[in-house]
Amino acid sequence: MVNNKSKPGRKQNGVWTYFKQTPLKSAGHYSGECKFCHKKWQRAYIGILQSHLANECTDCPEEIQNYWLGFIAAKDSLDDDDSASIASSTGSNKKRKVASNGQTEIDDFFENRELPESKAAAIDRALIRAFVCCGIPFAVIDSPFFRELLYQLRPNYTPPTRKVLSESLLNQETSRVNKAINKELEHSQNLTLGNYFLSSRS
Ligand SMILES: [Zn+2]
Repeated sequence: MVNNKSKPGRKQNGVWTYFKQTPLKSAGHYSGECKFCHKKWQRAYIGILQSHLANECTDCPEEIQNYWLGFIAAKDSLDDDDSASIASSTGSNKKRKVASNGQTEIDDFFENRELPESKAAAIDRALIRAFVCCGIPFAVIDSPFFRELLYQLRPNYTPPTRKVLSESLLNQETSRVNKAINKELEHSQNLTLGNYFLSSRS
């Protein structure tokens, strides 16, 4: 009944520990309420609950927030089914790969190789940063012109859909940034404490 794609080995359902879970009429769906800040969801999706704890909830204990920050940041951005569906839209371009003499050009050979997941994830990350930091509307990712540009740059990269970009990828990046900020803060707290001890000794 719980048909989560069994991707990350961790029980991502574990997030329900922190939410009041009420079954809805349609099987397998629940409404939820955060046990910390009491925010409610008519229909609660696991990813949204996770990102609530990681990025949004102001009342949730820090260690729980950190756990979900790490969880989301580590989640592979490529396991979203939406990203697979676009492959077909760019697929037609593949025909151009054969050079006029019928031979595959050497560049094309490398371009046609499957993109390693880590590389694809790095491009995803660069993409979401560019969109957010340059204030580019998320709808641009669905523009055929923009997709053509990405295709010309990297034919074996399948760009995310607008939905994936504005939801999963944005969440992941927010989590990564929040995590980095926390680390930075921890570091500066240590520094301040260190300075305090140094100065108190003199
Ligand atoms: Zn909350």
